[in-house]
Amino acid sequence: MSLDYLPWARPESFDALPCVRDEHQDLTYAGFAERVEAAAEQFAEHGVGRGSVVAVMLPNRVELLVSLVAAWRLGAAATPVNPVLTAHEADYQITDADAVLVVNAGPGAPDGGRTAIAVDELRRTPTGGPLPAPDTRHEDLALLVYTSGSTGRPKGVMLDHANIDAMTSQMAAAMKLTGDDHCLLVLPLFHVNAICVSFLSTILAGGQLSVLGRFHPERFLATIEELRPTFFSAVPTIYAHLVSLPETVRHDTSSVRFAICGAAPASKELLTAVTDRFGFELIEGYGLTEGTCGTTVNPLGGPHKLGTVGTALPGQRLAIMGPDGELLPVGERGEVVIQGPNVMRGYLNRPEETARTLDGGWLHTGDVGVLDEDGYLRIVDRIKDMIIRGGENLYPKEIETALYEHPAVLEAAVVGAPHEVYGEVPVAYVAPAPGGTLDADELRAHCAGRLTKIKVPVAIHVRDALPKNPVGKIDKPALRALNNAAAA
Ligand code: ATP
Repeated sequence: MSLDYLPWARPESFDALPCVRDEHQDLTYAGFAERVEAAAEQFAEHGVGRGSVVAVMLPNRVELLVSLVAAWRLGAAATPVNPVLTAHEADYQITDADAVLVVNAGPGAPDGGRTAIAVDELRRTPTGGPLPAPDTRHEDLALLVYTSGSTGRPKGVMLDHANIDAMTSQMAAAMKLTGDDHCLLVLPLFHVNAICVSFLSTILAGGQLSVLGRFHPERFLATIEELRPTFFSAVPTIYAHLVSLPETVRHDTSSVRFAICGAAPASKELLTAVTDRFGFELIEGYGLTEGTCGTTVNPLGGPHKLGTVGTALPGQRLAIMGPDGELLPVGERGEVVIQGPNVMRGYLNRPEETARTLDGGWLHTGDVGVLDEDGYLRIVDRIKDMIIRGGENLYPKEIETALYEHPAVLEAAVVGAPHEVYGEVPVAYVAPAPGGTLDADELRAHCAGRLTKIKVPVAIHVRDALPKNPVGKIDKPALRALNNAAAA
């Protein structure tokens, strides 16, 4: 392992090549390295060094990347903070991570009471101050990425450079990236997928990264036509918006060699609609913050198996575990567990949760899955989303799959609602495709034709759109809360 994704580890021949750009700037590899050097110098003046943590609370822009890498330049770690968090939430993360310095939007932005540098004050040119030569090590903590907290207070996932190196090189190889690749970054950079899959894998290959701000479906397609990227990685919600644009919205997307869909379940209908409409190869993948920004992907170039999230990346071991810790054979459902150099060190300051999640040397994902004879993984559902109706386990994803088979359904989510007799029963929330309408009774009849009676949602609520968490996944905790409030 060589930490080749670090810009100063790139050969001189890369210097003049395009590296990262956003709407304000366009930097070569040498230009990016210079900006990193300047920011590192400034960080060092504020006491940042090996073992310290820098919090970076910025929207997607080049300075966010500069700040992450500048922290690494000093042997420090970075914790990316979602820029839309409230001051209370941001202060929690900054304090929990014990950041010594915060890079933020400027006066009034949260800083957790720590020293802050406003993004506009980030130094752009090194002054030649005495910075030691880079000495970033595998064992240095690189990222503290906070989980979204759907299962309690957000937890800081500790990823060291050995983890990042493994994830980045595994993904770059799986995507067959070369210096000719150009990634259009649309996912938020406070998430590990955007940092490793889009940013670092591209840099490792000597390619170029274009950083987009807010996602807007039509603008996204227009940007593809204008910038001609070769790939991007996105979540199902983004694809759902793209395919629901009117057919009259046409842009040239022929530069796109492939796109990745991951982070949340995607219906077969959605994946097929994307490939039918845009023509690029769409590969579904699966991963989680705890060190597997990608654990499985459908192989580039095929064979793809629709309804699966693909096969394990080389370097990772994937298995299905039964309730007593036994590894289950092909075809049997159980918890997805993972081993490999990519798996996190643990959760910051949470030894008990770390021990539970890394029990027996496996990363316990909390997902229920099944492997087929060719090693393709199908995610059945998340253990915590499972609905227990009168002692019977119901998987919301199976019910959502039935709902997605209805042509007018754009988004569907099924959650458990408290029930006096059965304990819990399934309730659905659906949103129609733009311009369409949905009728709850008709949808129930549609489900009844596909599912056994106990799986048919007892209520189907039609909404204009479903709530999303900051990464763009449908926010099931919010739906559960809505449902519980209605029942109270
Ligand atoms: P939190 O841990 O705070 O609840 P989260 O689980 O959404 O948040 P992430 O690490 O962002 O945290 O997401 C990982 C989870 O996303 C996986 O464990 C899995 O449940 C789900 N996931 C990722 N990719 C896919 C996919 N292709 N299909 C289905 N589910 C997926």
